[in-house]
Amino acid sequence: MKIGFIGLGHMGNPMARNLLKHGHTLKVFDVVPDLVKKLSDLGCEVASSPAACSQGVELVVTMLPSSPHVRSVYTGKDSGILHGVPAGVLLIDSSTIDPHTSRDVAMDARAHGNNMVDAPVSGGTGGAEAGTLTFMVGGAVADFEKAKPILQCMGKNIVHCGGAGNGQVAKICNNMMLAIEMIATAEGMALAAKLGMDPKVFAGIANSSSGRCWSSDTYNPYPGVLETAPASRGYSGGFGSDLMLKDLTLVTEAAKAAKQPVMLGAAAQQLYQMHSAMGNGGLDFSSIIKLYKKD
Ligand code: NAD
Repeated sequence: MKIGFIGLGHMGNPMARNLLKHGHTLKVFDVVPDLVKKLSDLGCEVASSPAACSQGVELVVTMLPSSPHVRSVYTGKDSGILHGVPAGVLLIDSSTIDPHTSRDVAMDARAHGNNMVDAPVSGGTGGAEAGTLTFMVGGAVADFEKAKPILQCMGKNIVHCGGAGNGQVAKICNNMMLAIEMIATAEGMALAAKLGMDPKVFAGIANSSSGRCWSSDTYNPYPGVLETAPASRGYSGGFGSDLMLKDLTLVTEAAKAAKQPVMLGAAAQQLYQMHSAMGNGGLDFSSIIKLYKKD
């Protein structure tokens, strides 16, 4: 297939390269010329705007920072995708954005004659490199089936979550649960250590009893408990605290619009905001334990 790919950053670059590996040809666009060059060096055609990137292709994938970028790349006057793309071309947005924007843009696309699916990912840059991302897809079943073979070039689990915007719902609600669980683990681990327990022994007990969760047994935030966790390498790599803060802000805003209480989600958003303001935004999100213990 010939595919338009817009947004060639940390995630978009390896995702685009995986499409090339599977034999697809790409037309690419990003506002940063150096990022475009990395793909044009691999033989990709370069477009001058999102509109131009969506002409002469069979499908368009976008991987952008957040909601305003997605809105402007799709609906921007003259240069937006919807000004260039022929009717019938399927649009896939893999950015993490708020479900309302996602649904709005899908409606605009539909009015233009294009079906759209939201397909945010989990798995981070490691999953993007390895082609093992999970895609949470919102949209009509027929569009999901059409998108699936393309998403399978970049990911391992491709899950249909329901109608437009539901991929975003799955992504942000899951990450809210993860943040709350990580903070709870950090709080318990730091307190057990302060009260005199060996953190490794305590983690072993929690992991074989009711305190067990992914943050305690696979990604423990206490340094030295798990050799493979970011906590044991100064919180480098992994999933950045600023990215977690972004998702928590999306989820609390979505909850506010829906008049649905998220007491712990809101507290988690504030804790990550404070953590980021203290200069820790670039560290893995398990570094939230720094709020509870000295280095
Ligand atoms: P990034 O900032 O590295 O990449 C985004 C790219 O979009 C940049 O290259 C930027 O120049 C480009 N861009 C911005 N405005 C544009 C425009 N108007 N036209 C064309 N290009 C434009 O971000 P990323 O880490 O690749 O993340 C992309 C998305 O994936 C985000 O929504 C993020 O929340 C989500 N995500 C990221 C991770 C991760 O680990 N990095 C994990 C899961 C989900």
